Amino acid sequence: MRPRNKKNLNKRLLACGGVIERDPASRRGRWAEGREAVRVEIGCGKGDFITGLAARDPRILYVGIECVESVLVIAAEKAVNAGLSNVVFVPGNALYMAEFFDPGEIDEIYLNFSDPWPKERNQKNRLTGDTFMPLYVHLLKDGGLICQKTDNRPLFDFSVETYKSYGCGLETISYDLHHESYYGGLGNILTEYEKKFSEAGTPICYAKVRMPDRDSVRDRIDACLEAVRKRREFEARFGH
Ligand code: SAH
Repeated sequence: MRPRNKKNLNKRLLACGGVIERDPASRRGRWAEGREAVRVEIGCGKGDFITGLAARDPRILYVGIECVESVLVIAAEKAVNAGLSNVVFVPGNALYMAEFFDPGEIDEIYLNFSDPWPKERNQKNRLTGDTFMPLYVHLLKDGGLICQKTDNRPLFDFSVETYKSYGCGLETISYDLHHESYYGGLGNILTEYEKKFSEAGTPICYAKVRMPDRDSVRDRIDACLEAVRKRREFEARFGH
């Protein structure tokens, strides 16, 4: 990005300081204070979904994690303009979310139109693969939920296989959400990508899955936390 844009971005980020958390670890174990639940969107993009949910239910705290700051700032500006006090944005990679959430602290995780990473060798980057899934089981409360929407059928099929392999309860699986009989009653909020894809006639896949007993996947959780810790160490020593 050109320096002028960067300067402008920093100015905009600063102006939204009230809804951007740069020290999320300081809130570990305390996110829910004064609220009934904590729901997290990973890869919240430009924020239509999370700000829409937050406006609808002020009793819930919504946390949006997004690693691209030029995108995150647009979401943060929407929250500020709407006067929302129950949404917080965390810049950075969700891989490190166990550094700022306690085990069982999250009620629901939303994964909307996550990057599909179609090549086999990039599987590890998929937000619904073995790199991330143990983190979700670790950080969601007992019986917590993952809600996923995507236009990408191969990613969706891969994700459902992951959910099954972790023993998740498959509560809802749809291959064409917008045309399901229950859709009208769902109160669905469209994400930016969802708007684009559904206007183009692409069916939207949807999964709502319940977490298994954490102890049943304890080994995978421990291995994942260890791998993340090592990666942090590596980054601290050698940079990204
Ligand atoms: N949810 C939005 C955006 C989808 S695009 C929508 O539905 O319109 C996927 C988003 O996830 C991108 O903005 C990308 O920057 C973000 N993302 C991908 N991997 C991430 C990670 N590991 N941590 C945080 N954000 C991530």
